[in-house]
Amino acid sequence: MMKPNKQTLLIALGGNALIRKGQEGTVQEQFENLRNPIQQIAKLTRAFRIIITHGNGPQVGNLMLKQESCNAVPKLPLEILVAQTQGQIGYMIESTLDTELMHLDNSTEHYFVSLLSYVVVDKNDPAFLNPSKPVGPVFTKEKARTLPYPTKKTAKGYRRVVASPLPVTIVEKREIKKLIDMNFIVICCGGGGIPVIREGRRFSGVDAVIDKDLASAKLAEEVDVDIFLIATDVQGAALNYKKKTQEFLRSLTSRQATRFLAQGHFPPGSMGPKIEAAVQFVRKTGKRAVIASIEDIESAVNGESGTEIVT
Ligand code: ADP
Ligand code: MG
Repeated sequence: MMKPNKQTLLIALGGNALIRKGQEGTVQEQFENLRNPIQQIAKLTRAFRIIITHGNGPQVGNLMLKQESCNAVPKLPLEILVAQTQGQIGYMIESTLDTELMHLDNSTEHYFVSLLSYVVVDKNDPAFLNPSKPVGPVFTKEKARTLPYPTKKTAKGYRRVVASPLPVTIVEKREIKKLIDMNFIVICCGGGGIPVIREGRRFSGVDAVIDKDLASAKLAEEVDVDIFLIATDVQGAALNYKKKTQEFLRSLTSRQATRFLAQGHFPPGSMGPKIEAAVQFVRKTGKRAVIASIEDIESAVNGESGTEIVT
């Protein structure tokens, strides 16, 4: 039954929803890891229209590693690899959701769609001058020197770095809005979206990656969602993370969040973009944004767990 007054919930699933830290990342592991979050999302479809976005770090890393180890076929640019991961992860999420919805309620028809999504970036974004986002496999210093792209020394070793420009707009926002208005569950903006530059009416892909939390915030704003939930592998945002004085926060204002961000509590590449994404969304819309564990999706929606950022 179509409930026109249902609120819309956007859930951004972290890369760890599919491959946990320390796991090999087999397909079985990925399906197994998806079951818990997707079970919760299936239950939430009773009360909400749902959009699911997702990360792709480990999956795109594996595709890059494959490319590095094979010279028999031409190498593909990053934007094509992002498109591939939208397909593979979209399929895994969609088929898991199908199973879980069937367990829950055999009688209702559910509609869903995984959408290849492009996200426009600005060709003058300063990020292009300073590629800094590490992607793909780890190399030795010697190997790194021979590679045709910039690398950077990270904690794990040398890795390729790419530009991570800000999302300007989601190309398919109208389609996504129409689909959720028609009660479709939409899986989109995987891996932050396929980054494209607009030239007049034409788009062309660029070798870059867009942060999935910032892309999700942009989508949440553009399709007017009521709750923006970032689901990750920690219970929320903490001050003094991993220090003796660590303190998980249940709620903070966007001003406090910005101040703690500037003080270095939320590092770039992990908690930083989640906080930025949540702050942007609540400032633009005045609606709810929550950062919570993938285990706690339902309770976070109910305001019982996670870190909520309020205006
Ligand atoms: P995702 O794949 O969900 O985007 P990330 O690894 O990018 O996950 O970000 C989540 C990680 O952020 C956590 O696993 C945690 O180790 C790290 N983190 C860094 N600083 C904080 C903080 N202040 N509070 C909570 N987690 C933090
Ligand atoms: Mg992340």
